[in-house]
Order: sequence, then structure tokens, then C-alpha cells
Amino acid sequence: MKRREFLTAAAGATAAATAVAAPAIAQTAPEVKWRLTSGFPKSLDTIFGAAEVFSKYVSDATDGKFQIQVFAAGEIVGTFQAVDAVESGTVEMAHTASYYYVGKNPTFGAITALPFGLNPRQQNAWLYYGGGNELVNEFTAKHKIRAFPGGNTGTQMGGWFRKEIKTVEDLKGLKMRIAGLAGQIMAKLGAVPQQVAGGDIYPSLERGTIDAAEWVGPYDDEKLGFYKVAPYYYYPGWWEGGATLHFFVNMDKWAELPKSYQAVLEAAAAAANVMMQAKYDAVNPAAIQRLVANGTQLRPYSSEMMQAAYTAAQELYGEISAQNADFKKIADSLTAFRDQEYLWFQVAEYTYDSFMIRGRKK
Ligand code: CA
Repeated sequence: MKRREFLTAAAGATAAATAVAAPAIAQTAPEVKWRLTSGFPKSLDTIFGAAEVFSKYVSDATDGKFQIQVFAAGEIVGTFQAVDAVESGTVEMAHTASYYYVGKNPTFGAITALPFGLNPRQQNAWLYYGGGNELVNEFTAKHKIRAFPGGNTGTQMGGWFRKEIKTVEDLKGLKMRIAGLAGQIMAKLGAVPQQVAGGDIYPSLERGTIDAAEWVGPYDDEKLGFYKVAPYYYYPGWWEGGATLHFFVNMDKWAELPKSYQAVLEAAAAAANVMMQAKYDAVNPAAIQRLVANGTQLRPYSSEMMQAAYTAAQELYGEISAQNADFKKIADSLTAFRDQEYLWFQVAEYTYDSFMIRGRKK
């Protein structure tokens, strides 16, 4: 073949390849625009930020073809309407804590964190390798939702109190902002649980509409300013040993996505899941030091209170399980998994952490 003929043939082959490839590209990489409603205010760069990490990943991995615009709580729907908005298709997806929807079904309460359940590492082990994601999705499918783990806060703090809480008696009649199953456990102990969205907690605490409030941990709680109106900061948040946030996707919208976009979305959710935990762990140490410097009084829950709450929790799970097979399945799976995990965690990790913590005190 002469050089000119070769070039002509090569050009023809390229043109043919382009002609074949172009429609295939158009088909597999369509422009898709979704809306995500977050359960959180923009001011919280950790928990709200995870949705932005997710959205950026999806956009970057698809050369900007798949855009998911993130809206703060209240911009499209409020925190407590997110599940309904996804189920009805008002928005394609949400990023939220499933326990906000405990009123729809207590099973939603067990998905974020079962009080006295798993720590953050164990939570991920259960979700990804302990059958957790399958059980969660078996349940959320009834609400037309596909659920992906989307962040972990780490073990949370036990909330801000205007007065010291030394015994279970001190909880009687106390109005506390606390979500999900934990609120029902607190009610068994005599407190009056209140469901208040993140952005509305500070004014309620300041006005005295509530006496106590729990949110997440030092970094977020400092941003929301609770230390200015409630000096006693209790730990641990036994109701959220390792709270998992979720991305909830409408199942019809999910089914419409090309396989490649589905894979990107799933990987982006996993990235957000890791990044949120990493960020909390990186920013909490300085935050707790600033809080204490500003007069915050740290207090551990007494073991008497922890034990009373544990007993109340088991009673509650028995009551719900008797009427709700979905809840029972998830709670039983989590509990069995937890008992196995702590069998292992007490050996290497607990011993290592204990030694290191004792050492840093010297
Ligand atoms: Ca919390």
C-alpha cells in the first residue's frame, strides 16, 4: 500500500469507528441532573459536607455529565420530610439520618444506629460484610428507596444539659431533644423526648423550651453554640455508638441510570462514608479542648444510668419486635453481630487503646 492510500484508508477507518462509537457514548453517558435534599444545615461542613463530597465525586467521575445538586434542609423539603420526598419522587435522593423517620416505622430507627449497638468500625463491618446493607435495603425497598451508607459520625457525645444529671431520677420530666429510638428509651426513664431539626436546637435550648439536647460531638456541637446555654456535656452517646448516615435513592430513578452511573454513585457514597468519619476524627480533638477552655463541664453518664438505659432499651426492642418483623430482623442481626465483634475488639484493639490512653496521661 502506498503512503497516501494508507493514510486515506486509516482516515476512513477512524471515521467509521467514530461513526459507530458516537451513538454508544451518547447512550451510556447521558446528561443527568438530580436533586439531593440534605437533612442538615449548610453550616455543618462535616455532616452536610459529606453530600458535597459525594456530589463532586459523581460529577468528576462522569466528566460533569451526572450532576447531583445538594440542597440544605428546608430548601426543598424539611429534614423530617426527606423520606417522603424520595419515596414520591419529588427529589431523586436524600442524605439523612434514617432515625428521623422512626415515626413512620421504628425500623428506620435501627438503621442509623441501634442504641447500645455497634461502634463505627463494627457498623461498617455489619453493613458491608455482615448482611446489614441487604437487610436495610430489604426494608427500605418497601418505601421505594435504595439505601447506601453515607457517613459515620463516630461515637457521639451524650448531650448538653442545663443542670447536672447524676441519677435516673434527675431525668424525670426533663425535656430533651433526642431523636429516634433513643427518645423512646429516654421516655422510659422519665424524660420527655423532643424531635427538633439541627438548625432549630439552639434557639429552643436558649429559650428554655427544652432542658437538654444531643446532637453529634464536639466539633458540630461547638458550631451550633450549645455550650453558651447549657454547661454540662455528658458522654458517651450510648444511643449512637457509631451512627451511620444514609444516601436514600428513589428506586425508579436508580433503575433509569446507566450501569456505569450506578457504579459511580455507589463508589461515591462509600467515599463519603469514609471521609465523614475521617473528618470528625480529625477535628474533634481541638474542638473538645476549646469547649473545655470556654467553661464546658465534661461529665460521664454514671454506670447506674447507663445500665438503666440499657435495660430500658432491651425492653423497648422486645416490645417493638413483637409487632414488627422488619425491626426484629435488623435488631437481632445487629445484636448477634455486636456480641461477636466485641469478643474480638476486647483482645487487640481495646488493649492497644487502653495502653496508649494510659500512657498519654503521664
Ligand atoms: Ca445524635
